[in-house]
Amino acid sequence: MSQLEDARENLREALKSIGKEEYYSRLENPERFVEVNFPVSMDSGEKKMFKGFRSQHSTLRGPGKGGIRFSPDVNEDEVKALSLWMSLKCAVADIPYGGAKGGVVVDTGNLSESEEERLSRRYIDAIAEVIGENRDIPAPDMNTSSRNMAWMMEEYSNDNRELIPGVITGKPVEAFGSKGRSEATGYGAAYIIEEIIEEENLKDVTAAVQGFGNAAAPAVEKLEQLGVNVVAVSDSLGTAYDENGLSYENLVKCERKHGEVCPAGEKLSRDKILELDVDFLIPAAIEGVINEETVEDVKADYIVEIANGPTTRKADKVLEQKDVRMIPDILANSGGVTVSYYEWVQNRTGDYWSKEKVLEKLSENIRDAYRQFRDLRDEEEIYGREGAYRIATSKIVEAIETRE
Ligand code: GLU
Repeated sequence: MSQLEDARENLREALKSIGKEEYYSRLENPERFVEVNFPVSMDSGEKKMFKGFRSQHSTLRGPGKGGIRFSPDVNEDEVKALSLWMSLKCAVADIPYGGAKGGVVVDTGNLSESEEERLSRRYIDAIAEVIGENRDIPAPDMNTSSRNMAWMMEEYSNDNRELIPGVITGKPVEAFGSKGRSEATGYGAAYIIEEIIEEENLKDVTAAVQGFGNAAAPAVEKLEQLGVNVVAVSDSLGTAYDENGLSYENLVKCERKHGEVCPAGEKLSRDKILELDVDFLIPAAIEGVINEETVEDVKADYIVEIANGPTTRKADKVLEQKDVRMIPDILANSGGVTVSYYEWVQNRTGDYWSKEKVLEKLSENIRDAYRQFRDLRDEEEIYGREGAYRIATSKIVEAIETRE
Protein backbone atom coordinates (compact mmCIF):
# COMPACT_ATOMS: atom_id res chain seq x y z
CA MET A 1 0.00 0.00 0.00
CA SER A 2 1.26 3.46 -0.82
CA GLN A 3 1.49 6.18 1.80
CA LEU A 4 -1.48 7.92 0.30
CA GLU A 5 -3.58 4.77 0.48
CA ASP A 6 -2.46 4.25 4.08
CA ALA A 7 -3.29 7.85 4.97
CA ARG A 8 -6.73 7.59 3.36
CA GLU A 9 -7.54 4.29 5.05
CA ASN A 10 -6.59 5.74 8.45
CA LEU A 11 -8.75 8.78 7.70
CA ARG A 12 -11.70 6.62 6.67
CA GLU A 13 -11.45 4.52 9.83
CA ALA A 14 -11.23 7.58 12.07
CA LEU A 15 -14.27 9.20 10.43
CA LYS A 16 -16.18 5.96 10.78
CA SER A 17 -15.32 5.65 14.46
CA ILE A 18 -16.69 9.13 15.15
CA GLY A 19 -19.81 8.36 13.09
CA LYS A 20 -18.96 10.79 10.30
CA GLU A 21 -17.96 8.57 7.40
CA GLU A 22 -20.03 10.73 5.06
CA TYR A 23 -17.20 13.28 5.10
CA TYR A 24 -14.64 10.85 3.71
CA SER A 25 -15.25 11.85 0.09
CA ARG A 26 -14.85 15.47 1.14
CA LEU A 27 -11.45 14.87 2.74
CA GLU A 28 -9.81 12.08 0.72
CA ASN A 29 -8.57 14.50 -1.96
CA PRO A 30 -6.90 17.90 -1.63
CA GLU A 31 -9.03 20.98 -2.28
CA ARG A 32 -6.46 22.06 -4.83
CA PHE A 33 -3.41 20.43 -6.34
CA VAL A 34 -1.01 22.14 -8.72
CA GLU A 35 1.87 20.79 -10.74
CA VAL A 36 4.43 23.28 -11.98
CA ASN A 37 7.25 22.81 -14.50
CA PHE A 38 9.80 25.58 -14.59
CA PRO A 39 13.28 26.32 -15.96
CA VAL A 40 16.33 27.08 -13.80
CA SER A 41 19.63 28.47 -15.12
CA MET A 42 22.49 26.19 -14.19
CA ASP A 43 26.00 27.52 -13.52
CA SER A 44 27.04 26.06 -16.89
CA GLY A 45 24.66 28.48 -18.63
CA GLU A 46 22.32 25.65 -19.58
CA LYS A 47 18.62 25.87 -18.62
CA LYS A 48 17.18 22.80 -16.97
CA MET A 49 13.52 21.97 -16.37
CA PHE A 50 12.27 21.02 -12.88
CA LYS A 51 8.94 19.66 -11.71
CA GLY A 52 7.24 20.76 -8.49
CA PHE A 53 3.90 20.41 -6.72
CA ARG A 54 1.74 22.17 -4.15
CA SER A 55 -1.12 20.30 -2.56
CA GLN A 56 -3.65 22.24 -0.51
CA HIS A 57 -5.53 19.58 1.35
CA SER A 58 -7.88 21.78 3.34
CA THR A 59 -8.54 25.36 4.34
CA LEU A 60 -11.41 24.49 6.66
CA ARG A 61 -9.70 25.43 9.92
CA GLY A 62 -7.56 28.24 8.47
CA PRO A 63 -5.18 28.89 5.60
CA GLY A 64 -3.23 25.95 4.14
CA LYS A 65 0.02 25.29 5.97
CA GLY A 66 2.93 22.97 5.39
CA GLY A 67 6.49 22.58 4.23
CA ILE A 68 8.28 22.32 0.92
CA ARG A 69 10.59 19.38 0.37
CA PHE A 70 13.38 19.00 -2.16
CA SER A 71 13.99 15.36 -2.97
CA PRO A 72 14.41 13.12 -6.01
CA ASP A 73 11.60 10.95 -4.60
CA VAL A 74 8.97 13.70 -4.43
CA ASN A 75 5.84 12.65 -6.31
CA GLU A 76 2.19 13.54 -6.58
CA ASP A 77 0.89 10.93 -4.14
CA GLU A 78 3.51 11.64 -1.52
CA VAL A 79 2.74 15.36 -1.54
CA LYS A 80 -0.99 14.63 -1.30
CA ALA A 81 -0.48 12.31 1.69
CA LEU A 82 1.79 14.83 3.41
CA SER A 83 -0.76 17.61 2.92
CA LEU A 84 -3.52 15.47 4.44
CA TRP A 85 -1.28 14.79 7.44
CA MET A 86 -0.74 18.55 7.81
CA SER A 87 -4.51 19.14 8.09
CA LEU A 88 -4.67 16.50 10.80
CA LYS A 89 -1.55 17.81 12.55
CA CYS A 90 -2.77 21.40 12.76
CA ALA A 91 -6.08 20.12 14.15
CA VAL A 92 -4.39 17.94 16.82
CA ALA A 93 -2.04 20.80 17.76
CA ASP A 94 -5.08 23.09 17.82
CA ILE A 95 -3.60 25.83 15.69
CA PRO A 96 -5.81 27.74 13.24
CA TYR A 97 -4.60 26.28 9.97
CA GLY A 98 -5.68 23.79 7.36
CA GLY A 99 -3.06 21.63 5.70
CA ALA A 100 -0.82 21.80 2.63
CA LYS A 101 2.51 20.54 1.35
CA GLY A 102 4.82 21.17 -1.57
CA GLY A 103 7.85 19.67 -3.16
CA VAL A 104 10.32 19.80 -6.00
CA VAL A 105 11.78 16.71 -7.67
CA VAL A 106 15.48 17.46 -7.25
CA ASP A 107 18.63 16.04 -5.73
CA THR A 108 20.09 19.08 -4.00
CA GLY A 109 23.40 17.24 -3.65
CA ASN A 110 23.93 17.94 -7.36
CA LEU A 111 23.28 21.70 -7.10
CA SER A 112 25.63 24.56 -6.27
CA GLU A 113 24.39 27.10 -3.73
CA SER A 114 23.52 29.62 -6.42
CA GLU A 115 21.66 26.98 -8.44
CA GLU A 116 19.67 26.08 -5.32
CA GLU A 117 18.88 29.74 -4.75
CA ARG A 118 17.60 30.15 -8.31
CA LEU A 119 15.58 26.93 -8.01
CA SER A 120 13.98 28.14 -4.75
CA ARG A 121 13.06 31.47 -6.31
CA ARG A 122 11.65 29.93 -9.51
CA TYR A 123 9.57 27.42 -7.57
CA ILE A 124 8.00 30.07 -5.36
CA ASP A 125 7.31 32.20 -8.46
CA ALA A 126 5.64 29.20 -10.05
CA ILE A 127 3.27 28.62 -7.11
CA ALA A 128 2.90 32.32 -6.16
CA GLU A 129 -0.67 32.49 -7.41
CA VAL A 130 -1.95 29.85 -5.01
CA ILE A 131 -0.06 30.83 -1.83
CA GLY A 132 -0.36 33.91 0.39
CA GLU A 133 -0.37 34.84 4.07
CA ASN A 134 -4.12 34.25 4.23
CA ARG A 135 -4.21 31.42 1.70
CA ASP A 136 -1.41 28.96 2.14
CA ILE A 137 1.83 29.45 4.06
CA PRO A 138 4.81 27.22 3.17
CA ALA A 139 7.71 26.30 5.48
CA PRO A 140 10.80 24.05 5.46
CA ASP A 141 10.60 20.28 5.17
CA MET A 142 13.03 17.57 4.07
CA ASN A 143 16.21 19.09 2.53
CA THR A 144 15.04 22.68 2.81
CA SER A 145 16.12 25.09 5.54
CA SER A 146 15.70 28.65 6.76
CA ARG A 147 18.05 29.74 3.94
CA ASN A 148 15.58 28.56 1.27
CA MET A 149 12.73 30.26 3.15
CA ALA A 150 14.61 33.58 3.17
CA TRP A 151 15.10 33.46 -0.62
CA MET A 152 11.48 32.52 -1.17
CA MET A 153 10.15 35.26 1.13
CA GLU A 154 12.32 37.81 -0.63
CA GLU A 155 11.27 36.67 -4.09
CA TYR A 156 7.57 36.69 -3.21
CA SER A 157 7.85 40.13 -1.57
CA ASN A 158 9.74 41.58 -4.55
CA ASP A 159 7.06 40.36 -6.92
CA ASN A 160 4.38 41.94 -4.76
CA ARG A 161 6.31 45.21 -4.32
CA GLU A 162 6.00 45.04 -0.54
CA LEU A 163 7.54 43.10 2.32
CA ILE A 164 5.31 40.10 3.14
CA PRO A 165 7.21 38.04 5.74
CA GLY A 166 4.03 36.19 6.80
CA VAL A 167 3.82 34.34 3.47
CA ILE A 168 6.33 31.74 4.64
CA THR A 169 7.62 30.49 8.00
CA GLY A 170 10.80 28.84 9.21
CA LYS A 171 12.80 31.87 8.08
CA PRO A 172 16.14 32.84 9.67
CA VAL A 173 15.76 34.94 12.82
CA GLU A 174 17.63 37.73 10.97
CA ALA A 175 14.97 37.68 8.24
CA PHE A 176 11.75 37.80 10.27
CA GLY A 177 11.95 34.24 11.56
CA SER A 178 10.95 33.28 15.09
CA LYS A 179 13.37 32.53 17.86
CA GLY A 180 13.01 28.88 18.84
CA ARG A 181 11.69 27.74 15.43
CA SER A 182 14.79 25.70 14.57
CA GLU A 183 14.55 23.70 17.81
CA ALA A 184 10.76 23.48 17.85
CA THR A 185 10.12 20.08 16.25
CA GLY A 186 12.71 18.22 18.32
CA TYR A 187 11.96 20.04 21.57
CA GLY A 188 8.22 19.49 21.10
CA ALA A 189 8.73 15.72 20.90
CA ALA A 190 11.02 15.85 23.93
CA TYR A 191 8.38 17.73 25.96
CA ILE A 192 5.94 14.89 25.24
CA ILE A 193 8.53 12.32 26.31
CA GLU A 194 9.05 14.30 29.52
CA GLU A 195 5.30 14.11 30.20
CA ILE A 196 5.34 10.34 29.68
CA ILE A 197 8.36 9.84 31.93
CA GLU A 198 6.65 11.82 34.69
CA GLU A 199 3.25 10.20 34.45
CA GLU A 200 4.62 6.66 34.22
CA ASN A 201 7.39 7.38 36.70
CA LEU A 202 9.97 5.82 34.37
CA LYS A 203 13.54 5.39 35.60
CA ASP A 204 16.86 4.97 33.75
CA VAL A 205 15.18 5.89 30.51
CA THR A 206 16.88 5.02 27.21
CA ALA A 207 16.21 6.27 23.69
CA ALA A 208 17.37 5.60 20.13
CA VAL A 209 17.02 8.32 17.51
CA GLN A 210 17.02 7.57 13.80
CA GLY A 211 18.36 10.70 12.12
CA PHE A 212 20.45 13.66 13.18
CA GLY A 213 19.01 16.42 11.02
CA ASN A 214 17.11 19.65 11.72
CA ALA A 215 14.38 17.93 13.72
CA ALA A 216 16.32 15.07 15.32
CA ALA A 217 19.41 16.89 16.63
CA PRO A 218 17.52 19.31 18.93
CA ALA A 219 15.51 16.31 20.22
CA VAL A 220 18.77 14.58 21.20
CA GLU A 221 19.97 17.78 22.87
CA LYS A 222 16.77 18.19 24.89
CA LEU A 223 16.54 14.51 25.85
CA GLU A 224 20.08 14.65 27.20
CA GLN A 225 19.11 17.70 29.28
CA LEU A 226 16.14 15.73 30.63
CA GLY A 227 18.47 12.97 31.78
CA VAL A 228 17.43 10.46 29.11
CA ASN A 229 20.21 8.13 28.02
CA VAL A 230 20.35 8.44 24.23
CA VAL A 231 22.19 5.21 23.45
CA ALA A 232 22.00 5.32 19.67
CA VAL A 233 21.79 7.90 16.90
CA SER A 234 21.89 7.01 13.22
CA ASP A 235 22.28 8.84 9.94
CA SER A 236 22.21 7.57 6.35
CA LEU A 237 25.67 6.01 6.80
CA GLY A 238 25.32 4.11 10.06
CA THR A 239 24.43 4.05 13.74
CA ALA A 240 26.55 5.42 16.58
CA TYR A 241 25.88 3.24 19.61
CA ASP A 242 27.03 3.35 23.22
CA GLU A 243 25.06 1.64 25.96
CA ASN A 244 26.33 4.25 28.41
CA GLY A 245 24.84 7.04 26.36
CA LEU A 246 26.12 9.26 23.56
CA SER A 247 27.00 12.90 24.12
CA TYR A 248 25.14 15.49 22.07
CA GLU A 249 28.19 17.73 21.99
CA ASN A 250 30.40 14.96 20.63
CA LEU A 251 27.81 14.01 18.02
CA VAL A 252 27.65 17.60 16.78
CA LYS A 253 31.45 17.96 16.72
CA CYS A 254 31.84 14.72 14.85
CA GLU A 255 29.10 15.55 12.37
CA ARG A 256 30.79 18.88 11.63
CA LYS A 257 34.20 17.32 11.22
CA HIS A 258 33.41 14.11 9.35
CA GLY A 259 29.89 14.64 7.99
CA GLU A 260 28.56 11.62 9.88
CA VAL A 261 27.64 10.56 13.39
CA CYS A 262 30.67 8.79 14.81
CA PRO A 263 30.67 6.06 17.35
CA ALA A 264 31.53 6.88 20.90
CA GLY A 265 31.43 3.15 21.38
CA GLU A 266 30.38 0.94 18.51
CA LYS A 267 29.23 1.69 14.97
CA LEU A 268 26.26 -0.43 13.93
CA SER A 269 24.52 -0.72 10.57
CA ARG A 270 22.02 1.95 9.67
CA ASP A 271 18.88 -0.14 10.18
CA LYS A 272 20.03 -1.84 13.39
CA ILE A 273 18.73 1.15 15.32
CA LEU A 274 15.13 -0.01 14.87
CA GLU A 275 15.87 -3.25 16.73
CA LEU A 276 17.40 -1.84 19.90
CA ASP A 277 15.81 -2.67 23.22
CA VAL A 278 15.17 0.90 24.40
CA ASP A 279 12.27 2.65 26.10
CA PHE A 280 11.79 5.18 23.30
CA LEU A 281 12.42 4.57 19.61
CA ILE A 282 12.34 7.87 17.74
CA PRO A 283 12.24 7.60 13.94
CA ALA A 284 13.22 11.09 12.79
CA ALA A 285 14.46 10.62 9.25
CA ILE A 286 12.35 9.22 6.44
CA GLU A 287 9.04 7.58 5.64
CA GLY A 288 8.12 3.93 5.79
CA VAL A 289 11.08 2.62 7.82
CA ILE A 290 8.91 0.66 10.26
CA ASN A 291 7.24 -1.68 7.82
CA GLU A 292 6.27 -5.32 7.36
CA GLU A 293 9.90 -6.39 7.18
CA THR A 294 11.27 -4.44 10.13
CA VAL A 295 8.34 -4.32 12.57
CA GLU A 296 8.82 -7.77 14.09
CA ASP A 297 12.24 -6.74 15.37
CA VAL A 298 11.05 -3.58 17.13
CA LYS A 299 11.60 -3.96 20.88
CA ALA A 300 10.94 -0.45 22.13
CA ASP A 301 8.03 0.27 24.50
CA TYR A 302 7.20 3.62 22.91
CA ILE A 303 7.55 4.97 19.41
CA VAL A 304 7.65 8.74 19.08
CA GLU A 305 7.45 9.70 15.41
CA ILE A 306 9.41 12.83 14.59
CA ALA A 307 9.53 11.99 10.86
CA ASN A 308 6.31 12.19 8.86
CA GLY A 309 4.91 8.76 8.08
CA PRO A 310 7.76 6.51 9.32
CA THR A 311 5.36 3.62 10.10
CA THR A 312 3.23 1.83 7.51
CA ARG A 313 -0.36 0.80 8.20
CA LYS A 314 0.53 -2.88 8.15
CA ALA A 315 3.29 -2.29 10.71
CA ASP A 316 0.82 -0.34 12.85
CA LYS A 317 -1.36 -3.44 13.16
CA VAL A 318 1.61 -5.45 14.46
CA LEU A 319 2.69 -2.71 16.88
CA GLU A 320 -0.86 -2.47 18.20
CA GLN A 321 -0.84 -6.20 18.93
CA LYS A 322 2.57 -5.97 20.55
CA ASP A 323 1.11 -3.24 22.77
CA VAL A 324 3.70 -0.68 21.69
CA ARG A 325 2.68 2.81 22.74
CA MET A 326 2.51 4.93 19.60
CA ILE A 327 2.88 8.70 19.73
CA PRO A 328 2.09 9.42 16.06
CA ASP A 329 3.73 11.99 13.81
CA ILE A 330 0.72 14.31 13.66
CA LEU A 331 1.13 14.88 17.39
CA ALA A 332 4.81 14.12 18.07
CA ASN A 333 6.27 16.44 15.42
CA SER A 334 3.65 19.19 15.68
CA GLY A 335 6.07 21.46 17.57
CA GLY A 336 7.50 22.68 14.25
CA VAL A 337 4.25 23.90 12.78
CA THR A 338 3.17 25.27 16.17
CA VAL A 339 6.15 27.62 16.26
CA SER A 340 5.58 28.36 12.57
CA TYR A 341 2.20 29.64 13.69
CA TYR A 342 3.89 31.81 16.36
CA GLU A 343 6.22 33.13 13.65
CA TRP A 344 3.27 34.06 11.44
CA VAL A 345 1.57 35.82 14.37
CA GLN A 346 4.78 37.76 15.09
CA ASN A 347 5.15 38.72 11.41
CA ARG A 348 1.61 39.98 11.25
CA THR A 349 1.62 41.93 14.51
CA GLY A 350 5.22 43.18 14.35
CA ASP A 351 5.64 42.12 17.97
CA TYR A 352 8.66 39.80 18.23
CA TRP A 353 8.97 37.43 21.21
CA SER A 354 11.90 36.16 23.27
CA LYS A 355 13.05 32.57 22.85
CA GLU A 356 11.87 31.84 26.41
CA LYS A 357 8.37 33.02 25.58
CA VAL A 358 8.23 30.97 22.37
CA LEU A 359 9.43 27.78 24.04
CA GLU A 360 7.17 28.26 27.04
CA LYS A 361 4.14 28.63 24.80
CA LEU A 362 5.20 25.63 22.72
CA SER A 363 5.68 23.52 25.83
CA GLU A 364 2.24 24.44 27.15
CA ASN A 365 0.51 23.89 23.80
CA ILE A 366 2.05 20.52 22.98
CA ARG A 367 1.58 19.17 26.52
CA ASP A 368 -2.12 20.15 26.33
CA ALA A 369 -2.45 18.39 22.98
CA TYR A 370 -0.67 15.32 24.36
CA ARG A 371 -2.90 15.16 27.47
CA GLN A 372 -6.05 15.41 25.40
CA PHE A 373 -4.75 12.58 23.21
CA ARG A 374 -3.72 10.44 26.19
CA ASP A 375 -7.08 10.83 27.89
CA LEU A 376 -9.01 9.75 24.81
CA ARG A 377 -6.62 6.85 24.08
CA ASP A 378 -6.85 5.54 27.63
CA GLU A 379 -10.60 6.03 27.98
CA GLU A 380 -11.36 4.29 24.70
CA GLU A 381 -8.48 1.82 25.02
CA ILE A 382 -7.37 2.44 21.45
CA TYR A 383 -4.07 2.51 19.59
CA GLY A 384 -2.23 5.84 19.62
CA ARG A 385 -2.57 6.66 15.94
CA GLU A 386 -6.28 6.02 16.07
CA GLY A 387 -6.66 8.32 19.06
CA ALA A 388 -4.86 11.20 17.37
CA TYR A 389 -6.79 10.69 14.13
CA ARG A 390 -10.09 10.74 15.98
CA ILE A 391 -9.26 14.04 17.67
CA ALA A 392 -8.10 15.59 14.39
CA THR A 393 -11.03 14.43 12.30
CA SER A 394 -13.55 15.52 14.96
CA LYS A 395 -12.15 19.05 14.86
CA ILE A 396 -12.16 19.18 11.06
CA VAL A 397 -15.72 17.87 10.90
CA GLU A 398 -16.78 20.45 13.51
CA ALA A 399 -15.32 23.16 11.28
CA ILE A 400 -17.29 21.87 8.29
CA GLU A 401 -20.54 21.59 10.22
CA THR A 402 -20.16 24.99 11.86
CA ARG A 403 -19.32 26.84 8.69
CA GLU A 404 -21.61 25.24 6.18
N1 GLU B 1 7.43 20.53 7.49
C1 GLU B 1 7.06 20.58 8.84
C2 GLU B 1 6.00 19.54 9.14
O1 GLU B 1 5.89 18.55 8.45
C3 GLU B 1 6.70 21.97 9.30
C4 GLU B 1 5.53 22.59 8.62
C5 GLU B 1 5.33 24.06 8.98
O2 GLU B 1 6.04 24.59 9.82
O3 GLU B 1 4.45 24.65 8.34
O4 GLU B 1 5.30 19.63 10.11
